[in-house]
Amino acid sequence: MKTPFVTKELIEDITKTYPTPFHIYDEKGIRANARRLYEAFSWNKGFKEYFAVKATPNPSILKILHEEGCGTDCSSMAELVMSEKVGIKGNDVMFSSNDTPIEEFAFAGKIGATINLDDITHIPFVEEACGGIPKRVSCRYNPGGVFTLGESKEGFQVMDNPGDAKYGMTKAQLMEAYKTLKEKGAEEFGMHAFLASNTLSNEYYPALAKILFELAVEIKEVTGVQLSFINLSGGVGIAYDPKGTENDIYAIGEGVRKVYEEVLVPAGMGNVSIFTELGRFMMAPYGHLVTKAIHEKHTYKEYIGVDACAANLMRPAVYGSYHHITVLGKEDAPLDYTYDVTGSLCENCDKFAIDRKLPKIDMGDYLVIHDTGAHGFAMGYNYNGRLWSAELLLREDGSVTEIRRAETIDDYFATLDGFWDAI
Ligand SMILES: *Cc1c(COP(=O)(O)O)cnc(C)c1O
Repeated sequence: MKTPFVTKELIEDITKTYPTPFHIYDEKGIRANARRLYEAFSWNKGFKEYFAVKATPNPSILKILHEEGCGTDCSSMAELVMSEKVGIKGNDVMFSSNDTPIEEFAFAGKIGATINLDDITHIPFVEEACGGIPKRVSCRYNPGGVFTLGESKEGFQVMDNPGDAKYGMTKAQLMEAYKTLKEKGAEEFGMHAFLASNTLSNEYYPALAKILFELAVEIKEVTGVQLSFINLSGGVGIAYDPKGTENDIYAIGEGVRKVYEEVLVPAGMGNVSIFTELGRFMMAPYGHLVTKAIHEKHTYKEYIGVDACAANLMRPAVYGSYHHITVLGKEDAPLDYTYDVTGSLCENCDKFAIDRKLPKIDMGDYLVIHDTGAHGFAMGYNYNGRLWSAELLLREDGSVTEIRRAETIDDYFATLDGFWDAI
């Protein structure tokens, strides 16, 4: 059972000022969740979450998370600039990019971000971009192969394919990289790896931690480099489908602590800081896409057309992802209708739900599409001339603030200013 953090009454009130569709975020939920994460890892003195900006690139959200002790994980110029404009810089910024343009390394260096090198060939590249190797630097590891967890009759609990992923260095390259970085004057070192996405298992982080902790011990033995931080990156998931079991962040924190005690502490590395770069886990449940039913269509199937489309939330269209839907005001009504809920794009994949059991939907009903707080608005686009929606924030005191206005048709045409005469 998924309960929206908004009511029909609140949405009716909000739409007097801000028409649908819009994304709305829940400040109270965001803060409470961030506090749980910090509590779960409070056993580690240097623990820090670097929020993956790409999940929800909005300055007001970054500010809230920064107030809760989080830094930012950036991967592009715009994300670095946004972070810096919010006042998040220096050691509070991780720059985990790949295939990176030189200006972005230069800017990351200028604001003191910790650069996480995706490849060994980036060492001379960063040297050139930053006028030397930064004092604090990190390397991204890719163990290759297939990463699996928890085999059962239903298959693996987690399965992903690092060997096919473009990110990170091999172990041999990693060893070489640390040696070179040390020779070039780096003083503080970290390691990072991202092996699986949206995992629904309390075992993922501990399993990743074991791989990285054992490697950290080996790095110390082989190169003499003692890591000061290990970045478990993102990948802790959420249950989009209410039938799934949510991760327990306390069990995850405890699982990582056990491996830390088993592997790092006996190797004299009990002062290594644990970093995370969570995106989805920090934000997904605390965002809704709110949309209105504007058409019903009865052909070979029953369709409900809404005023949002895949340009506002692409996950169902491109990944076939499940996003739960609540019809506001009908939370307790029987689910005795079966609908495809569609957007307006001229693409048949533009469906927020297929054959979904829902209560009878009437024109003008408001639908909450759940778990859009991460990789929702962020993955928007302008296909079919659809415009970006507004982003709203439900404050802790119950008031609502607009934190990004909706795009207008003038915004859409702004990049053509000055070109009309040349036609
Ligand atoms: C996307 C990404 C994250 C965040 O991933 P989530 O699955 O949203 O937690 C963290 N680090 C890097 C380098 C990423 O690319």
